[in-house]
Amino acid sequence: MMYSKVKALCRTYNGFDINGLGQLKDGRGNICPVTIILPTIAMEAVQETGSAVGDGNATESFMQLLENKIAEAKDMLLERFEWICSQSPDSAKFMYENNLMAGYVPEEGIRSAMKHGTLAIGQLGLAETLQILIGCDHTEPRGMELAKKIESLFKEKCAKYKKEYSLNFGVYYTPAENLCHTAMNKFKEKYGIIPNVSDREYFTNSMHIPVWKKMSPFEKINLEAQLTGYSNAGCITYVELDGGVKNNIFAMEVLVNYAMDKDIPYFAINVPNDTCLSCGYMDEMGDKCPICGGTDIQRLRRVTGYLTSSYTTAFNKGKRQETEQRVKHTGCEV
Ligand SMILES: [Zn+2]
Repeated sequence: MMYSKVKALCRTYNGFDINGLGQLKDGRGNICPVTIILPTIAMEAVQETGSAVGDGNATESFMQLLENKIAEAKDMLLERFEWICSQSPDSAKFMYENNLMAGYVPEEGIRSAMKHGTLAIGQLGLAETLQILIGCDHTEPRGMELAKKIESLFKEKCAKYKKEYSLNFGVYYTPAENLCHTAMNKFKEKYGIIPNVSDREYFTNSMHIPVWKKMSPFEKINLEAQLTGYSNAGCITYVELDGGVKNNIFAMEVLVNYAMDKDIPYFAINVPNDTCLSCGYMDEMGDKCPICGGTDIQRLRRVTGYLTSSYTTAFNKGKRQETEQRVKHTGCEV
């Protein structure tokens, strides 16, 4: 149940604690997340209003449905929070006996520790949602404008709940490792194939720019930096580079500095790293090892937050296709 920030690669994040620990990070965690599948709500709005995909007439109805859905997510989180708080500290004795949970007072039960954690309201598929509502994603200004309205609603509601319930509700940009594919399958069953929406095996990660959009790393950072500020329970921004960047460390430093200047809270540079299991040679490689011709190749990738030893077996069809469709943000003019 507890996903602590101690796992340094996880995107979850603890914002300001409303119950007295302030900005303290250690000893707190993400208590539980709920993810809202935005494209499904967008389709419900399209059907409710009798409008067509992309014509812009379902936006108002979508915002109303989303508001209701955020309230439902809050209720689900409260129910789970109460369930967790009703457990005995013996179920995670090590945590309490070793003072790993900040604020724990034995006489008060584990709620005394849990109340400092984060209740995360997450989201999936902002890019596809914008396509359904207005026919473009947030790489275009009018898409970005609506994206900001949607994220403002999340932020506003989480801030309200945080105060009202005195618990740390927060906006979370969900990685959706398995959900990206299962949600897409369910969506296709219901709505079929819609171009730029359900013609792939996965929904786009949280509010990310779709992985197949060609752009420079600076453009990618510029776009996502406009939305990361709405999240206070975790986000990540990636740029994809090819293996050759190891010969240009200066370029990596420029990118890191650029992302920091744009206030990206968590920035990651993804570089593929393959290992030939026959001879041990390591680099990015195609079907065969260039040294021994071996085909038994382990493909290390950062698919979501964590480095995965071989994404071709460790992930579902959706994430595998997403990884394969990622364009490299290099070789683009700025
Ligand atoms: Zn080899």
